[in-house]
Amino acid sequence: MLMKHWLVALLLVSRWYIQDGYSPYGFDIQVRNGLLMGEFAQAAASWREVAPIRVVKRAPNLCEFLPTSRYSWYGYYRPLQMQNGQVTRFLVQINGRALQQDFPNSKAARLSTMAHEFGHGLYLRDLGRAYRETSLMSRDRDRTRIVGPQQLDFENVRALQRIVPYVHAHADWPVYGWGQLVQKSDLIVEVRVERVQEYKSAQLATLQVRSVLQGEVRGTEITLDQAVEFLRPGQRLVLFLARRGHYYYEVDGNSKLFAVAEGKYESFVPGFAGVRELQALQQATQAQR
Ligand SMILES: [Zn+2]
Repeated sequence: MLMKHWLVALLLVSRWYIQDGYSPYGFDIQVRNGLLMGEFAQAAASWREVAPIRVVKRAPNLCEFLPTSRYSWYGYYRPLQMQNGQVTRFLVQINGRALQQDFPNSKAARLSTMAHEFGHGLYLRDLGRAYRETSLMSRDRDRTRIVGPQQLDFENVRALQRIVPYVHAHADWPVYGWGQLVQKSDLIVEVRVERVQEYKSAQLATLQVRSVLQGEVRGTEITLDQAVEFLRPGQRLVLFLARRGHYYYEVDGNSKLFAVAEGKYESFVPGFAGVRELQALQQATQAQR
């Protein structure tokens, strides 16, 4: 969704907000190397009062705990991908070495840093010394004491939610069970993404069909039309697709089963979750006919 120009202008001059936040309404996060997953989840939950932040198995946004970084920062937030001036993916990194050096064995300091970086994802700006007692976003806060968001931080997120009706970074997808998903699909295919072409608010991906689990394809390529969660060239996956006109569309929020190894795909379909061999997917598809 396009960010309104007036909003960009407002964020530019604001003392509270940054321009390259992700969403003031919360987001999903994936812990990249699995380290300190519980602490990331705890820091995420500290924002619960204003914005749900969830640590999930797979999300576009990544966070990572680095035990041996040579840098000096405690943590950072960095956009990884932008579309139409809107951040569509970000990375949070937490520097275990720097934190350990200045706050030995302090879980509080780690949580404070994690929750602070999530604050940037919610559009909050770094604040200075004047806010050291009142904001998680202050660089001068006592990291062992200000462990989560404070009243001021909550108020700032709420204030932004009032001026931004809704910043879409994610679609609200339907979620079907396996049987429904198979029945609603005109085509179920194993593909490799050949190339992509971006348009104003959409992307067309040319997919090379490697095998067909259900339906029929003329030729060896199909075109997928997407508005969110864009595919990237080289990705291999199994897709559940509906045909509308010349293009194909994902059927629901779990229609993309990404390859985790050659011939193995990870499913998040309720009741059929887990890593599956292509052959097992074929059999499960046929069982629904
Ligand atoms: Zn910061």
